[in-house]
Amino acid sequence: MIVGIDLGTTHSAIGVVDSGFPILLADEEGKRIMPSVVWFGMDGAVEVGRKALRRQATDARRVVLSVKRWMGADTILENIGKTPDEVSAEILKELKRIAEWRIGAEVTKAVITVPAYFNDAQRAATKRAGELAGLEVARILNEPTAAALAYGLDKLKNKARVAVYDLGGGTFDLTILEMEDGVFQVLATHGDTRLGGDDVDAMICSWLSAGLEIPGYQRWRFLEEAEKAKRALSDLSEFTLRIPFYDGKNSLEKTITRLDLDAMTKGWIARSLKCCQQAMHDSGLSLNELDAVVLVGGSTRMPAVREAVAEFFQCEVDVTQHPDEAIALGATIQAGVMSGAMRKMVLLDVTPLSLGIETFGGLMNVLISRNTTIPCKAGEMFTNAADSQEKMAIRVLQGEREMARDNWELGKFEVMMEKLPKGHARVGVQFRIDADGILEVLARDTKTGKDTVINIASSAVNVDDAAVEEMVSASVEHAFEDMSERIFTEAKLKADELLPAVEMIMAQGLVEEHERGEIEAAVKEVKATMASGAANALKVAVQRLDSATEAAAARLVEKAMEEALERELGL
Ligand code: AMP
Repeated sequence: MIVGIDLGTTHSAIGVVDSGFPILLADEEGKRIMPSVVWFGMDGAVEVGRKALRRQATDARRVVLSVKRWMGADTILENIGKTPDEVSAEILKELKRIAEWRIGAEVTKAVITVPAYFNDAQRAATKRAGELAGLEVARILNEPTAAALAYGLDKLKNKARVAVYDLGGGTFDLTILEMEDGVFQVLATHGDTRLGGDDVDAMICSWLSAGLEIPGYQRWRFLEEAEKAKRALSDLSEFTLRIPFYDGKNSLEKTITRLDLDAMTKGWIARSLKCCQQAMHDSGLSLNELDAVVLVGGSTRMPAVREAVAEFFQCEVDVTQHPDEAIALGATIQAGVMSGAMRKMVLLDVTPLSLGIETFGGLMNVLISRNTTIPCKAGEMFTNAADSQEKMAIRVLQGEREMARDNWELGKFEVMMEKLPKGHARVGVQFRIDADGILEVLARDTKTGKDTVINIASSAVNVDDAAVEEMVSASVEHAFEDMSERIFTEAKLKADELLPAVEMIMAQGLVEEHERGEIEAAVKEVKATMASGAANALKVAVQRLDSATEAAAARLVEKAMEEALERELGL
């Protein structure tokens, strides 16, 4: 098992692939996102996350925030006496503890994300932090790549280009990736390590406290309320900030609107767009060469940010993932792919279209129907259509249409069989789809026991979504004609068998006088409906002929048995 970790500047998260699905793990409070904050007590005690954040009010000097900014630097942090990787290790240890508690097993391996612009020293420091926390770092993954994985962009075509706009609490970066043989390459990245949601909190805070005397130790309350207002304005058009007794006697109440915030943050957003411009320039691409633009980082929840980015890139931006969970989710997917846990997902895969073979009259005979969970197998017995047939052609088909010609042919082969009268041969055909979606077709002549096995090269599971959709909608569109053609074909096959048999029964004098009229009328009706092509009418006529000749057919069987018995007894 390998876990995926987003070791962020302001927040961190951990996930694992469970039953083929990537999930983020929540702590005891049910929170999947943990503040990247560590408090080091004088006595050596350590607290991480929300607990450490609470210490900010009482013991700010011993609280470390945004340690990621220091990664790779050869420094000892003031007041704390620790290196940045040692502090990061505490965050990782806490995440590891949460994961082990949730999973109920030891966690030893991790994929950890870093910004695309991190240099070797910063990456090495991150790896070291992992090792200090007791984690073997299976891979250091670029954050924009993780985001692209979370958005499922690895399924885009080769050479697809995506832009990842990541605006978090304290940092911003824009990365342009290009898909190369299933792996994302960084084409360009540009950012600002001093641009993030914290700036907005500070802006609201100074707007709020303008002209007021605020004691230094109360400042965190203003910041907290400012952040609350900012978040609220992502959904609401106005919010009232309240800070009771901020200086012991006075209270503050002030309403801020979305428009106020938009005006305040215009320049701040423009700074991020300048980085986008630079990155686009460095990549040498024009805007219309991008296949997707995705947003990550909590600050991209701000409507003004979304609008500005969409306008800059002149396209719709994908915001379908939780902006603050996307990177951890992508790291988890990467971890799952590396450990093999993600591949198990194939087990839950289903056949997108039905699979079968062509039978008499050009009909599709389904062996495995659409949406069957793989791996799976199914089989059926078939017989010869003509006397002394030497071989049977097996056409493997995929699709939802009733007639073989309207489905896709996946493969074709022949089975040799013993020469027998029509309808006497027995050929078993079995379809087997393994966990990788490979279809194996086995055909066996039960008389000789000889097998013919072929593997179908094109996948029975990986079918282009658009093609599946087209096939399914064609089957719906043609449902009536298709069904009527099947009914007609089946009835005609039956009629082709019945008519000569009826002739023989009549010639052998097995028909009684009172039956003759009905039989002759039924024969006439079958021939007429067959010529007219009316499916249901033919079906009814065939049924009529079948029941009209039932008694005579029974007499034929009886006679044949008597003859056989006489032969056996030598009479
Ligand atoms: P991250 O570093 O990606 O976790 O982003 C954290 C930043 O996103 C912080 O500055 C948060 O205040 C900000 N943020 C989180 N939720 C929202 C929201 N609903 N609206 C605006 N900003 C938000």
